[in-house]
Amino acid sequence: MTHLPDVRYLTGFTGSSAALIVKGTKLTMFTDGRYTTQAAQEVDGANVEITEKPAAVAACEFAVEQGVTKLGFDPGMTSVAGLETLKAAVPAKVRKNFFVTVSGVIAELRQVKDEVEQEKMREAAALGCRLFDQVLEEIHVGATEMEVALALETMARFAGAERMSFETIVAGGERSALPHGKASGAKLKRGFVTIDFGVVLDGYCSDMTRTVHIGAARKGEREVYEAVLDAQLAGLAAVKAGVTGVEVDTAARQVLEAAGYAEFFTHGTGHGVGLEIHEAPRLGKKREGSRDGNVEAKLKAGMVVTIEPGAYLPKRFGVRIEDTVLVTATGCEILTPTTKAWIEL
Ligand code: ZN
Ligand code: ZN
Repeated sequence: MTHLPDVRYLTGFTGSSAALIVKGTKLTMFTDGRYTTQAAQEVDGANVEITEKPAAVAACEFAVEQGVTKLGFDPGMTSVAGLETLKAAVPAKVRKNFFVTVSGVIAELRQVKDEVEQEKMREAAALGCRLFDQVLEEIHVGATEMEVALALETMARFAGAERMSFETIVAGGERSALPHGKASGAKLKRGFVTIDFGVVLDGYCSDMTRTVHIGAARKGEREVYEAVLDAQLAGLAAVKAGVTGVEVDTAARQVLEAAGYAEFFTHGTGHGVGLEIHEAPRLGKKREGSRDGNVEAKLKAGMVVTIEPGAYLPKRFGVRIEDTVLVTATGCEILTPTTKAWIEL
């Protein structure tokens, strides 16, 4: 395993270079001399080997020494060049049929959060909610999107966030019609402002979106907001263990269809969150040609997913509302309970 969030999940190691060999119940982790002390402090349940070689090369050589005849690797987490490096690390005589692809095994395990993880995600989400309340004071005509993002990120660091979960989205006016409009130098004017952000606390990501309005609404704006909110509530109401990602997506999408905005909802309804901001499962339509077929898998209690429908009217405005929720046997626990009522600043 070379995907660092997977290595962290299995061992606790948070460094930037590592490879992990799992053989039966024995775990051996390879990293370099920068991490001798840190690995000794963090790693639990794996032997640590410090190497001067690339960690993945040392791991392959170790596997051969251990008499391993088949070594699984995750093709979704391995580049073409990375695979060439792995192949070059084993002698030609054992190379044939040595490497086998094993897709998403750890990603699958990571979907269901245990109680310790759930508590960390609650805390990260709660911090996100507090920051959102604080940043509202920074949103006014004339402030740039970047100034709002900077204020939010500064407050996040003062409050103990390790980093943001992803590049903060602050998108005002016409730019709110860009689903991933990262904060720019544009000045805010009367109209919608979409804020989508997350913080990382103890490795776990939060994720939430609210769309607020500067000044009084213009014709048609409130209607779109209410339709997106109804879709979001329908998505939330559909979430429980045993329901598929397609079913949750359909519940939200139908509301926007009925309101006449289906063509403006151009992405899936949600995604898993955890050590990474986007992880399995995916809640959306089945995509032709896609190999991420897990939209038809049933949600399980303990999964943490987002519900984030939106409507984006090109060159006019956009609205997205996103909560992060913990899936339960009978429904879900909303981890981001910040109000979704119309906010006019
Ligand atoms: Zn988000
Ligand atoms: Zn999201």
